[in-house]
Amino acid sequence: MPLYLPHINLQRYNTLASPVMAQFFVSVTTELELLEAVKFARERKLPLLVLGGGSNIVLRDDFPGLVIHIHLLGKDLVNEDDDYVYVKAAAGENWHEFVEYCLDYQYWGLENLSLIPGSVGAAPIQNIGAYGVELENVFSELTALDVQSGLSVTFVKDSCQFNYRDSVFKGALKDKYIITSVTFKLYKRPHLVLEYPALKNALSGYAEDSITPNLVSEVVCNIRQSKLPEPKQIPNVGSFFKNPIVSESILQSIQKNYPAIVSYPAGEGKVKLAAGWLIDCAGWKGNNEGGAAVHDQQALVLTNPHRLKGQAVLDLAQKIQASVFSLFGVELEIEPRIYPEPV
Ligand code: FAD
Ligand code: NAP
Repeated sequence: MPLYLPHINLQRYNTLASPVMAQFFVSVTTELELLEAVKFARERKLPLLVLGGGSNIVLRDDFPGLVIHIHLLGKDLVNEDDDYVYVKAAAGENWHEFVEYCLDYQYWGLENLSLIPGSVGAAPIQNIGAYGVELENVFSELTALDVQSGLSVTFVKDSCQFNYRDSVFKGALKDKYIITSVTFKLYKRPHLVLEYPALKNALSGYAEDSITPNLVSEVVCNIRQSKLPEPKQIPNVGSFFKNPIVSESILQSIQKNYPAIVSYPAGEGKVKLAAGWLIDCAGWKGNNEGGAAVHDQQALVLTNPHRLKGQAVLDLAQKIQASVFSLFGVELEIEPRIYPEPV
């Protein structure tokens, strides 16, 4: 029987370090405990907040419901063929520790995703991506608890509807499933993805045949540590906004006034704009307001140095959205999920 703790401060459970209170908090270590926790909430009509590492949520205020901290652990090789290994990890496993485990066993493909904070179970929610690789590139299937029926369901890749920092679990199936495990399809032979400019640049001094997956992981970790604020020191949730995808014609009209705008092809007549560039150009980089701040090395990262409730960061985000919209006519969408959901 899991322990339901009333009135718990969530500050240490979110990387923005927002000191908000949960009405109830429970940490589940088995699927049975998870099922019981869902029933506990349903019987009391409590809203649910499923919590992994808390690195992609903004807790704007106290949460009047049950927080279920996913602490399901375990990882194993479940299948293999000539070219691939299939490795299953429980949702509560720490993402970077899982990447390191795969490197140790020479299961290749996760190197570019090194050092992303959070849990395995949250990784498919926004199809995590970095340095030219996205989760969907190495995804096989996942299992999830259907919150309504209490049944365990398997989702193959197509049914997850992965997209740029998006999946069906952020859209049509939002809040309907709790992911319990993810199975990855990883390479038996090194499969290096080295095209991302920052990575390519950092590896330019190495002879081609000396570049190994372990080296790629190490270099990715180094770049990240040199550029991104460590949440324990400067609370943050990584990129606060998604890079907007717009049509080429919108880009062309912006380019008339801002020829230096940074964009990347995104297929089907679309382009991806670098949100960090838009925010920087709007004059926000390094600024602070109302206790929240825009990181001085990467304008896409908002920080919460005074460890305030998430609303302070959202107020700053709103101002940034308004000024970017008035300059470029482009809407910035907030990437992390907000709790309690604004009405
Ligand atoms: P949480 O913040 O706990 O949860 C996020 C959302 O997923 C919530 O809505 C939650 O309810 C839901 N959720 C969590 N677990 C489950 C589950 N088992 N079942 C159902 N729903 C669940 N992201 C990237 O994509 N690429 C990056 O390079 C990257 N870099 C980052 C760097 C920093 C410094 C930080 C702070 C964040 C970064 N992020 C990045 C964002 C974040 O790390 C990822 O989105 C990560 O996958 C979130 O995992 P989490 O366990 O912390 O999720
Ligand atoms: P960066 O290298 O300074 O690049 C800025 C932006 O340009 C990135 O957002 C990236 O988009 C885009 N970009 C750069 N080169 C690209 C290319 N060749 N093709 C397509 N898009 C390109 O970015 P950074 O802030 O240091 O982050 C490095 C990587 O880590 C990025 O992949 C980023 O997404 C990831 N990251 C994510 C988070 C998060 O919270 N979501 C936080 C930190 C870092 P993409 O974002 O689409 O790659």
